[in-house]
Amino acid sequence: MGMLKEKLARLSSKEFLIFMGVVIIGLMLVAGGHLWQEKQEEETLPVSAVTVEQDNRTVLVLNYHKIANEHKSLSVTLDDFEQHMKWLQEYSFTCITPGQLYDFVANGADLPEKPVLITFDDGYKDNYTNAFPIMKKYGMKGTIFVVTGFLGVYDNYLTWDQAKELLEAGFNIESHTYSHKSMTEASDEDITKELVKSRQTIKEKLGIDSDFMAYPTGTYNLHIAELVKEAGYKGAFTIKYDNVSRDSNVYALERVPVFHTSETNKDFWERLQYIPLLYKYGWIKN
Ligand SMILES: [Zn+2]
Repeated sequence: MGMLKEKLARLSSKEFLIFMGVVIIGLMLVAGGHLWQEKQEEETLPVSAVTVEQDNRTVLVLNYHKIANEHKSLSVTLDDFEQHMKWLQEYSFTCITPGQLYDFVANGADLPEKPVLITFDDGYKDNYTNAFPIMKKYGMKGTIFVVTGFLGVYDNYLTWDQAKELLEAGFNIESHTYSHKSMTEASDEDITKELVKSRQTIKEKLGIDSDFMAYPTGTYNLHIAELVKEAGYKGAFTIKYDNVSRDSNVYALERVPVFHTSETNKDFWERLQYIPLLYKYGWIKN
């Protein structure tokens, strides 16, 4: 320190100014670098996390039929179903409605962090007697696409009172046509009748507009999709095995069918395990 003091004392005023200038520039560089680094962190962390997720994320739409111990491929057992709901809860999935999914695809609306849409096709009574209590236990809500001409008519289908109770509990009741005819084999007139009558029945029985439908047996084509649109529906669900993204067609929304197999839970578990990670890092696109 003494040496430095001596040297400084020997500097001319011009040399001293140059020395101070160098010190000041050095300090500015250090401070600037630090600020720049802070700014970089600010920009790369939250901003990219938000934009990547919003643009690339995809949504899991599960498709069940019956929840019953029947050893049929359409019947997922009560134990398996409970396990699925438990996993969804453990992974902090949030149930969304078809309307929320539609707004995400068509209007660029946001969704909860880990969205899942749980759907059931046909409107079986066991959706009320078996699935509903399990879903309540884990705080899950679903959407049931009902064959409106079967409700209150056949024993193994929901009654309209049960549908009403599900609706009041936060479930969505939507259309699965009036009598489950295969649309690719029906005439335009028949298809329109099936679509319109089903919508009218839901309005009559439950007092709500059904804005969404699921194609019976999942089969559809562009012409059928056009008829669905003309009948007043905002969107339609297929059984095309994929996740929904912003690139999805609202009249051909993808779903992941869950069937009873020897590996029901392994399949489900594998799928679920990877999704949160994909969301987290913004990779998505199964
Ligand atoms: Zn069906």
